[in-house]
Amino acid sequence: MTVKTDAAGNLRGLWKPPDAETKRLILGSHIDSVPNAGAYDGVLGVALALEWVDLAREVKLPLAIEVIAFSEEEGVRFGVPFIGSRAVAGRMDPALLLLKDAGGVTLGDAIRDFRLDPSRLDDAALDADVLGFVEMHIEQGPVLESEGLSVAAVEAIVGQSRLTLEFTGRANHAGTTPMRLRHDALAGAAEWISSVESMARKADGLIATAGRIDVQPNAANVIAGVARVSLDVRHADDLTRKTAVESLLAEARAIAGKRGLALERTQQMDQPAVPMDERLTAFLVEAMAASGLKEKRMISGAGHDAMVVASRVPAAMLFLRSPGGISHHPDETVREEDVEAALHVGGKFLERVVTAVG
Ligand SMILES: [Zn+2]
Repeated sequence: MTVKTDAAGNLRGLWKPPDAETKRLILGSHIDSVPNAGAYDGVLGVALALEWVDLAREVKLPLAIEVIAFSEEEGVRFGVPFIGSRAVAGRMDPALLLLKDAGGVTLGDAIRDFRLDPSRLDDAALDADVLGFVEMHIEQGPVLESEGLSVAAVEAIVGQSRLTLEFTGRANHAGTTPMRLRHDALAGAAEWISSVESMARKADGLIATAGRIDVQPNAANVIAGVARVSLDVRHADDLTRKTAVESLLAEARAIAGKRGLALERTQQMDQPAVPMDERLTAFLVEAMAASGLKEKRMISGAGHDAMVVASRVPAAMLFLRSPGGISHHPDETVREEDVEAALHVGGKFLERVVTAVG
C-alpha cells in the first residue's frame, strides 16, 4: 500500500490492484483514544480494514481500497470530535483551527507542529470516485452480548438533543421554613428527573438521561434555590426524539407550576439522526447470512466517523460484540470468534461488491 498523512493528521493507505477501476472503496476507523481507554475502540476497525485488503486480493476486487486511520475522533484534546473525518467529508470549518487545548495550543498550531499544513485541509476531502465507506467498530454497549451475537449492521446513528433545564425557587433556612411554604428547586428537579426515566422506558428505542445536576447553594441546611439539570435525548427517528423533548419540557413546566418554581431551558445540541446507506447495509446483512451468522441490524447510540463521512459518500457500519458492554475503560475487549466473524462478513461483503461493480 502507498501511505500518506493528510493535513488533518489522518493516516491513509491506498491499495490498488493492477487493473483497478477508477472507483475506490474506503475502509477505516479512528486511532486516537480517551484517557484510561481500552485497546480496541477505533483501532480494531483499522486493523480489520487492513485484513479486508487481504480479503480483497482473494476475491479479486476490481477496485482500489483506501484505509483511513482517522485522527481526533474523540475530541479529547480540543473539545470537538471528528476532526479527521470532518476533513475527509469536506466539512472542516476553518474556525475550528482556532480551538485551543488545555495548554493554549490552537488546533492550527498543533497541525503545524506535526509538520502538516492546515491550509491544505481541503485536499483531505474524498472526491466523487468513491463507491462507499465501511467502518468496523466495537459496539461499546451490551446489546449484541445480551442476544448472543457476534456482529450487527448499523442501520442508523441516533439523533441527539442536549438541553439544560434550570429550576429556580427560593433558597431559605432548612429548619425554619415549613414544608407548605417552600419553593424547593432541587425537589422539583428530582420529581422531573424520575419522570424523564419513566417516560423513556415507555417509548420504544428512546434513550433519555439527566446525567448532571448543579444545585445552589448546595448546602445541607439550606433549601435549594436553583437546580440546573442536563438532559440528553436520543432516538433514530428525529420526530420521535423532538416529540419526546417537547413532552419532557411540558412535564417540567407542569412540575414547576405546581411548586411555584421558575423554569428556563437552553438547548446545546439538536443533531439529526444519520441513516446508513441502504445498499451497503444490505450487503453487510447478506454477508452475515452467507457466513452462517444471524442477520442482525441495530441502531448506534453513539456517534462515529461513519456518521460524518456519510454526508459525503454512502456509508455503512459493522459492530462487533463488546464483552460486558464495556468501553472507554482498560477492561474493554473483544472476542476472537467475533473478529473471525467480521472477517467472514468482510469476504462475503467484498464478493457482493465485486458482483455489483462487475
Ligand atoms: Zn470509537
